[in-house]
Amino acid sequence: MEKKQQPHVVMVPLPLQGHVKPLLCLAQLLSEAGLYVSFVNTTQSHKRFTNLETITTHFPNIHFECISDGLPEDHPRALLTEYFEGMKRETTPHFKELLLSLGRKSLTGSSPPVTCIIADGVLPFAVGVAEELGIPIFSFCVHSARFLWGYLNIPKLIEEGQLPFSDGNLYHSINGVPGLEGIFRRKDLPEFCILPDPHHPIIKFFVGETIAMTKTSGLILNTFDELEDSCIHHVSSACNNLYTVGPLHAHINSKLGDRARSIASRGSLYSVEEKCLEWLDSQQPKSVLYVSFGSITQTSLSQLMEFWHGLVNSGKPFLWVIRPGAIIGEEGNEGIPEDLLPGPTERGYIVEWAPQEQVLAHHAVGAFLTHSGWGSVLESIVAKIPMICWPYMGDHYINTQCVNKVWKIGVELEAWDRSTVEKAIISVMETKKDDFQISMDKVAKLAEDSISKGGSSSQNLDKLVEDIRKIKATA
Ligand code: UDP
Repeated sequence: MEKKQQPHVVMVPLPLQGHVKPLLCLAQLLSEAGLYVSFVNTTQSHKRFTNLETITTHFPNIHFECISDGLPEDHPRALLTEYFEGMKRETTPHFKELLLSLGRKSLTGSSPPVTCIIADGVLPFAVGVAEELGIPIFSFCVHSARFLWGYLNIPKLIEEGQLPFSDGNLYHSINGVPGLEGIFRRKDLPEFCILPDPHHPIIKFFVGETIAMTKTSGLILNTFDELEDSCIHHVSSACNNLYTVGPLHAHINSKLGDRARSIASRGSLYSVEEKCLEWLDSQQPKSVLYVSFGSITQTSLSQLMEFWHGLVNSGKPFLWVIRPGAIIGEEGNEGIPEDLLPGPTERGYIVEWAPQEQVLAHHAVGAFLTHSGWGSVLESIVAKIPMICWPYMGDHYINTQCVNKVWKIGVELEAWDRSTVEKAIISVMETKKDDFQISMDKVAKLAEDSISKGGSSSQNLDKLVEDIRKIKATA
């Protein structure tokens, strides 16, 4: 198709691993469908990508753009309100200038005019700029439909007096949220819901931004209808259009076949240690426990040592990701016991970052000890690997509830002392293996069907592309 006729989608992720990767998968799928895709990184994440030289090699058809987030170089960029408010204030002019410059480029014919924006729902600057420039915008949410639905119900819970609460009981059930009956507890709400003032600026900010997502032209979710059917129609009725197109990493694999293998695992802001795959080759089928707590969690050294003892006492070989900066208060390797340093040992293998999708697909892996980030849960489902969930924050709790109580494909780690860790590993890898495998096969099959031709996610992706083309046609 001639460049100027191609619809042009500008995609903007929050600069975090768990956000960049699914958006890159979607970018690649849209590009394969014939759309012109610009992918906007902040200077910080762009540097990490280009250092790893993955960007142009693995995503040759995506046009990468880079903007400053406007914050000082030494800003911690921690996931606190100040960061999001800082972005809203400081990144807005940079994003606007980028869109204006893309508009100028289109006049010279070097790229098509911008048709629409797809922005991470947690980005507080994109909607305002899109409105100001009159560009249609879709939002992309990296969380499950259940977590999002819980979030959208916070104003109702405040109105009904279920929030705030003062008895400190986080395991108390939340009632009256259709679709979440029987599994929804106070603990499954975002952390700020423990605040005693329901009008606190943090609550107003995050709930306001989430509701703003539903007001855009459409909301795109990395989930699939059959996995979250109890909630999806509720979310759908709360927004203009809903496109459930996940699991995106599997969607890419199914659409691109062998070509996808590198793409899905390359959307990484970290240097991937592929050598651990060779170590896995030498292990018995289904014998290895894969351990990773994602890209954000931090643990104390003593907490990590409890995990280590639990792993060792279970007698199972393990592949464990301990990323730099994951141990609170430890900058380098000094002070970290030898047992936790990267490299193979007689009991297992520790890496700073693993090729997770390939690891989960490896025949030697039998279970996944995870923090239950949504990306990891979806990847485990597709690979049919039962989970031991150690939820840490945000959506991890509701994801764990689903793994444990709804889909029955894993267990929740009730505590993190060595004995509980050991017992959980043994229960998932030995005793209950068959039970988990039956449910696992069922859920994985649903995922596979959703992304195959005619499946729900496949149809929804086609619909998204079609709707973007319609915008172009009427512009
Ligand atoms: N990941 C990876 N290698 C690792 C650890 C994680 O490739 O060693 C990827 C993983 O495949 C997933 C993402 O990082 O896609 C983490 O996202 P998730 O939603 O699970 O958690 P978050 O990092 O956002 O807490």
